[in-house]
Amino acid sequence: MSLQIYLNDRLVPKEQAVVSVFDHGLLYGDGVFEGIRSYDGLVFKLREHLVRLYESAHTLMLKVPMPIERLEAAVIETLQANRLRDAYIRLVVTRGTGDLGLDPRKCPTATVFIIADKIALYPSELYEKGLELMTCPTVRNHPEALNPQLKTLNYLNNILARIEATNAGFNEAILLNAQGYVTECTGENIFYVSGKRLVTPPPYVGILKGITRQSVMDLAAKSGFQVIETPFTRHDLYTADEVFVTGTAAEIVPVAKIDNRRIGSGNAGPVTKDFIRKFRELTRTEGVRYDPEGAPAGKAARV
Ligand code: PMP
Repeated sequence: MSLQIYLNDRLVPKEQAVVSVFDHGLLYGDGVFEGIRSYDGLVFKLREHLVRLYESAHTLMLKVPMPIERLEAAVIETLQANRLRDAYIRLVVTRGTGDLGLDPRKCPTATVFIIADKIALYPSELYEKGLELMTCPTVRNHPEALNPQLKTLNYLNNILARIEATNAGFNEAILLNAQGYVTECTGENIFYVSGKRLVTPPPYVGILKGITRQSVMDLAAKSGFQVIETPFTRHDLYTADEVFVTGTAAEIVPVAKIDNRRIGSGNAGPVTKDFIRKFRELTRTEGVRYDPEGAPAGKAARV
């Protein structure tokens, strides 16, 4: 059976899941999105992801055409329609169809779609060996130009950084802000460990407030770490005991080298390994439970 996609309140086979070439999500990157995971029939931090989506949309004055409860149900229906127990969920709200001008007032209705598919996991050796990162020439978007706290469809800042890292033969890029402070990677937040201190940049330097980031900060505080949000430079990373990155897709990944400097032992450190274990445990015990074999119950299913 073809993958079922939720598109504007209906579940349709992926071949029919198409949007207009006049959609401003496509013409201008005008829209917002979320990447969400489900683990063994539990959607992890679903509410938090949806709240972030509605908040990004609010700042863009983009009206999500349904209440949060309906969108929450739509995510579950999409998982059930595809009988997915472990999934990566992409939820997108675009400004919708308009004309060729960029005026959002010409787009009367937002487009909403949800793709739930099997998760393509990163190779497991990456979680042992660690990533090789480089700081890239492209600086992170200035928060007063396009605030990285908004998870919008305009990801070219990140894509340029990713191209630079790939061209230079590195796994990932670290973006600095215009002042030279470390912000984040192209799709992950960054942390360093120094003794019993866990340090990560504050949102005002220009980062997305990651949901995995918050989970790790909570886990660390419970494990007796002093969790500090403060601006820092590359030097602090080079000289840290351990560095790791976090994100919904990647979860927690150790960092072996940055700009060719070995970090700590050069492999996954004990603190990172402990957080990986605790985070995996959390994702298997906490979340919105659904029956992957159950029939979708909501409005979408009736269409
Ligand atoms: N930073 C950026 C730029 C991201 O796109 C993401 C999500 N892919 C993250 C950080 C991590 O956020 P989360 O833990 O909420 O997935």
